[in-house]
Amino acid sequence: MTEDITGPQDLQALYDSVMEKDSKYVMQTYGRQPIVLSKGTGALVQDIYGKEYIDCVAGIAVNNVGHCHPTVVRAIQAQVEKLMHVSNLYYTEIQAELAEALVSITGMMRIFFCNSGAEAMEGAMKLARLVSGKSAFVAADHSFHGRTIGALSVTHRSIYRDPFMPPVSSETTFVPYSDADAIRHAISESTAAVILEPIQGEGGVNVPDPEYLKEVREICDETGTLLIFDEVQTGFGRTGTWFCKEHFGVEPDIMSMAKAMAGGFPMGAIAARSEISFGRGQHASTFGGSPLACAAALASIEVIKEEKLLKRSTENGTYFMGKLRSMDREDIVEIRGKGLMIGVETKYPCSKFVDFARENGVLLNCTSDSVLRLVPPLMITKKQIDTVVDVIEQA
Ligand SMILES: *Cc1c(COP(=O)(O)O)cnc(C)c1O
Repeated sequence: MTEDITGPQDLQALYDSVMEKDSKYVMQTYGRQPIVLSKGTGALVQDIYGKEYIDCVAGIAVNNVGHCHPTVVRAIQAQVEKLMHVSNLYYTEIQAELAEALVSITGMMRIFFCNSGAEAMEGAMKLARLVSGKSAFVAADHSFHGRTIGALSVTHRSIYRDPFMPPVSSETTFVPYSDADAIRHAISESTAAVILEPIQGEGGVNVPDPEYLKEVREICDETGTLLIFDEVQTGFGRTGTWFCKEHFGVEPDIMSMAKAMAGGFPMGAIAARSEISFGRGQHASTFGGSPLACAAALASIEVIKEEKLLKRSTENGTYFMGKLRSMDREDIVEIRGKGLMIGVETKYPCSKFVDFARENGVLLNCTSDSVLRLVPPLMITKKQIDTVVDVIEQA
């Protein structure tokens, strides 16, 4: 426990012990940054040595309301003393309340609760197969929808997919992103749904042409194909609106959400239009919509409203991108994004930027090899943004 430790030697011993245990006992799947984090508040996190970092990763677009927001912490504390888990064999007031809140912010009709982004995508794909009676999917190049076998079969990148093939859905057609005609050609008699991220996250913060999703919606309507939006990363204010679909004025038939949904607590969900639903017994999740997760999600939604974080996300995003664009750097190819979902494409692999920034107190994430993905908590201050831009410039 860090609380009992004072001397630098103790801290070094603690650090070494964490490293050793991880290397011995944890499957080595992650390329981790060599720091041990122990605390966080707002847009800042601290490692065990007390070194502070401005967090532009936010647990991969999860901590939209910042680390340990007091409203979320209090809601979890209050709920944990009452009831943590009962399963979906029973009703709870808090789950009903959250479902109502989600219907209101998504504009969809019904919710199914689960625990992660991949699980939400699995559910969305099952639902699409159920209501369409068809089995194939059309997905985009550079898409990312999760690591379970089903979600993986509509995820594009070969290092994620190839070792685990054949896919469950052998009928996924990948098409270039932001090319509506390609979708028109790819849809066949057997296509259940088109699956798209309204802005691609993992694929490099790719913002589509403004008319793209509208055209895709029309194509889906003409061909009787369902449209699934994966809003796992783009949801809950990340791009300056509750959900990214609002920027494009397009409604999907089914949408998935997770990451920032419960203010840092694990949770996911599917939302769907009125006539699209599972019937009794057709889908389930033991932990889905647990009272604890629901309390965290309701509190997080309240914080986004109370602190006007949608507006903050838009303003901060505009400020951040403006500052980044004012850097006159030849090694930057493009700066793109919406709200506080920002990509800085560099001419070189960006992992060395990440190391330099971390050493200088800024956490950055490099995705798609050469895109710095900036997804800080929405309440990051202008001063913190200035510091981040300074560090990126030096890097
Ligand atoms: C992160 C992510 C997922 C997967 O979420 P997990 O919670 O890691 O399973 C799916 N889709 C998108 C767009 C994501 O960003």
